[in-house]
Amino acid sequence: MLRQVLSGFIRLHILYHAELEPICGVEIMEELRRHGYKVGPGTIYPMLHDLEEAGCLSRRDTIVAGKRRRNYRITKRGSRLLGAAKGKLRELFRELVEDRTPTK
Ligand SMILES: [Zn+2]
Repeated sequence: MLRQVLSGFIRLHILYHAELEPICGVEIMEELRRHGYKVGPGTIYPMLHDLEEAGCLSRRDTIVAGKRRRNYRITKRGSRLLGAAKGKLRELFRELVEDRTPTK
């Protein structure tokens, strides 16, 4: 269950960084490790692929030192999703972490 919850966090984290600059799997794994998530290629690559399939990321391959590197960048659709998720996250944070119920 925790896995499922964290998988959503990781996806948002990927989108966030892909909005700042093009990212590749290795970089995002390092970034997530920095945040205390232990995720391997078996988790990250399928997620990147799913986000690409869903039209949230676009991929551009480059060759670095003879190896293919898949670079991902956020798409318009991905940005919209991230924006909507941020709003939801903000509200959830207020309630869960700050114990404030939504006032609208
Ligand atoms: Zn980060």
